[in-house]
Parts: sequence; structure tokens; C-alpha cells
Amino acid sequence: MFHPLINLELFAYNLIPMNLYSTKNRSNIASLKEAVMKGLPDDNGLFMPEVIPQLPANFINNLADFSFQEIAYQICESLFKGFIPSKDLKNLLDNAITFPAPLIPLNEDIHVLELFHGPSLAFKDFGARFMAQLMSYFNQGEKEELVILVATSGDTGGAVAAGFHKMPGIKVVILYPSGKVSDLQEKQLTTLGSNIAALEVQGTFDDCQAMVKKAFLDSDLNQVIKLSSANSINIARLIPQSFYYFEAFKQAPKGRAINFCIPSGNFGNLTAGLLAKAMGLPINHFIAATNINDVVPEYLDSGIFNSRPSKRTLSNAMDVGNPSNFVRMLDIFSGKNERFTWNNMKQKISGYAFTDQETEDAIKRVYSKYKYLLDPHGAVGYLATISHLNKFPGELNIVLETAHPSKFIDDVDRILQIEVNIPKQLLDIKDKKKEATLMNVNFDNFKSWLLENY
Ligand SMILES: *Cc1c(COP(=O)(O)O)cnc(C)c1O
Repeated sequence: MFHPLINLELFAYNLIPMNLYSTKNRSNIASLKEAVMKGLPDDNGLFMPEVIPQLPANFINNLADFSFQEIAYQICESLFKGFIPSKDLKNLLDNAITFPAPLIPLNEDIHVLELFHGPSLAFKDFGARFMAQLMSYFNQGEKEELVILVATSGDTGGAVAAGFHKMPGIKVVILYPSGKVSDLQEKQLTTLGSNIAALEVQGTFDDCQAMVKKAFLDSDLNQVIKLSSANSINIARLIPQSFYYFEAFKQAPKGRAINFCIPSGNFGNLTAGLLAKAMGLPINHFIAATNINDVVPEYLDSGIFNSRPSKRTLSNAMDVGNPSNFVRMLDIFSGKNERFTWNNMKQKISGYAFTDQETEDAIKRVYSKYKYLLDPHGAVGYLATISHLNKFPGELNIVLETAHPSKFIDDVDRILQIEVNIPKQLLDIKDKKKEATLMNVNFDNFKSWLLENY
């Protein structure tokens, strides 16, 4: 028996730090620090929070009283259960969330949540900046510096580079495939300098990824250098993506059922929305929007998950044939058997998929009708929202606009024949000098380079 004077809630709040389990084995447990620093559990599952706390109703009903940073603080404070002292947590969040997420109405039923106001102009800035802050926090007081290796096909590298730029005690090495990222993406990776180094690999993205994986397994390297990864399935990238679902609710008109439409590839963003709902945000329904890489919409229709190689599309950040966060979605909806899980999931998520031609038409239609410029990813979301609205009229749909259209300026110029306004973040780097080290696809060369430089 507990002593009646001990407040159980306070006890839980103050003393038990947040643990995470592996989706492969719920008794495989790690602390938040271990999960963030390791990225992946040893059994190759993904980390999930052991407890998803319900936020108090008076917080959820009064979001308008809180700034974006304060909303993030309330979420982390209850998720991390006092594991990070309030003062440090506030400081960390002030450094991570330095740009807004405005909600823009297209019409009465469709609003767009702009997630592209960060340094790399995509929603991945939220995850990358928060992860950088957490890693730096956990690495404080360590004598050895942390060297983070990232392989990128374009987008992630830019967000990670910006997130970790000038972070004390941490160095970042980015490997990207030569000639296979856009000029602007390359500039985002190669012009920061300071603690960010870029390796221009004369091979494919898969070659880059294989070299990084091999480095993590190499015992010589690991004896001399403290290596870590910043991959997209780190739980520290997922958690901050739940913040802006609350921030959207705060700005939305009250009294209507609210759905979120998420243009998806690896389904991290959608999974973060499921976390927000589990924490008590009254999200009515999720709309999963994909391009022709439609493994998840197909699963929602048929109950069969059939992963396959991805196909290249206009909305290329969503060209994913085996979405890594799908196991987290299964975990959240898991029931007594597979059929049960599928039923649970499709009650809360509807899937829709579209071709490039449909995407182009949507960009044109939205521009001529609303004078609003969607990027190809947001356009896929818009299409899914229209399809859903046709079935469920009267609900308010919030489409996540995941990137700024100027990131895809060549496509948008071609489709609309207009000049796209380039935001300051991109203008600033356009004329900066690229600095990258050329590297052939040879692990020994990569290893020697690391040993010489770190
Ligand atoms: C990464 C990315 C996506 C896909 O997000 P997931 O969380 O992987 O589903 C969508 N749009 C843009 C612009 C992206 O960069």
C-alpha cells in the first residue's frame, strides 16, 4: 500500500524518467537519452514512448493562451516527466523553435498549415533542430566531441546541417551523391562551414548510406571517434512534429470537426499527428496523401502491406516504397490480431494517391482559384483533401504544406510559367561558395579521411 499522503501523480511526474520500448520487443527498454543518442534499438525495431501522457483539458481547451514555444514546452514537460529540468527544456525549445507555423485559409473547408518557414524551407527543420538541441544537451559535459554521420538524397541533409550548425561539442559529416541533388540542395549542404563538412560522393545515395552504415560497425573508427547518426527515425525527430498539430488547432476556427491531411513518404509526420491525438488533441480524422508510391493507401484499402521499390515522381521527398514509420503506426493501432489492427487504423486514417499529372493540375488550379502557390507535396495533400471532402462534407481540413514552392522552383516555373518568389534563406546561400570534399565509393578512403579529420 502507498502512503495516502504520497501524491501518486507527482511521484510519477517527478521521479520516473520517460522510457521508450522497441516496436520489435516491448521489454527492450531505453531511456530518452539512450534512444536519442543511439537512434535505433539493437533489435532493429523503432523506439516508441512507453507512456503517452494525456495533456490536461484546460491546456487543450485554451491553446490560444500559449505561444508556440509554450505549447512545445507543455508537451515535452509531460512526455519527458521532469527528466530534463524546466529551465533547460525551455531554453532548448527556444533554440529549436525559431520560426512560426501559420495556418492559411484557402476557403472555408480547407486551410493550409505552412511548415516551411525554417532555414531549409521544409518541415524537417522542426525535427532536425529539436534533435540537434537534445543531442547537444545530452552530450554536455562529455569530453569527447560527437561526430554525426548523415547520408542524404537531398532534403534531410539540409535540415540536419542547419540544425546542428555551430552546435558546441558536435561535428557533422554529410555524404551526398554527386550530381544527384539539386543545385540549391547542394548549396544548403556545402556552404555552412564551421562544424559541418560535406563529402561529395561519386556514387548513388545507396552508396552513401552503405558507407555510413559500415562506419558505425567499424571497430577501429568507433574506438577513436564517438559516432552517432541523425537518421529520420530517431524519436527526437518525431516528437517535435507533434507540436504543430496543437499550434494548428490553436489557430483554427472553433466548433468544427478537424481533419489533418498529411502528404507522406516515410510517414513520420503522420505518426507525429497520431501522437498528438493520443495526447488528447481532438483530431477527428487523418488523411494520408501519397503520390504513386501508394503502399499505405493500398494497405488501408486492402489490409495487405506490400512494400516495393519506389518510383520517381514530382513530389520526390515522398518517393518511398517501404515507409519506415509504418511499424510505429501498426504499434499505435495494434489490436489482438492483424485484421483488428487494420480495422483500427482505417477508422482513423483514410488514404489517397495521385499521379504527377494530377499534381501538376492541382498546382495550376489552386493558383488560379486562390492565388496560392502549392509545392508538389502540398498539391498531393490538396488533392487528397478534395477527395475526402467529397465524401465527408462540412468538416474542416488542414493540409500540411511540407515545403516552400521555391524549393522546387524549376518544376513550379515550368508548370505555372511564373516567377516564384525566393525567400531570404535561399537567396542568402545562392551565391555562397560550395565547399565539399570529393570522395570515391571506397570505404577505406572514407575511413582514413575520418581518422585524419576527427
Ligand atoms: C520528407 C518530406 C515529406 C514526407 O514526410 P514523411 O514524414 O517522411 O512522411 C513530405 N514532403 C516534404 C517536402 C518532405 O521533405
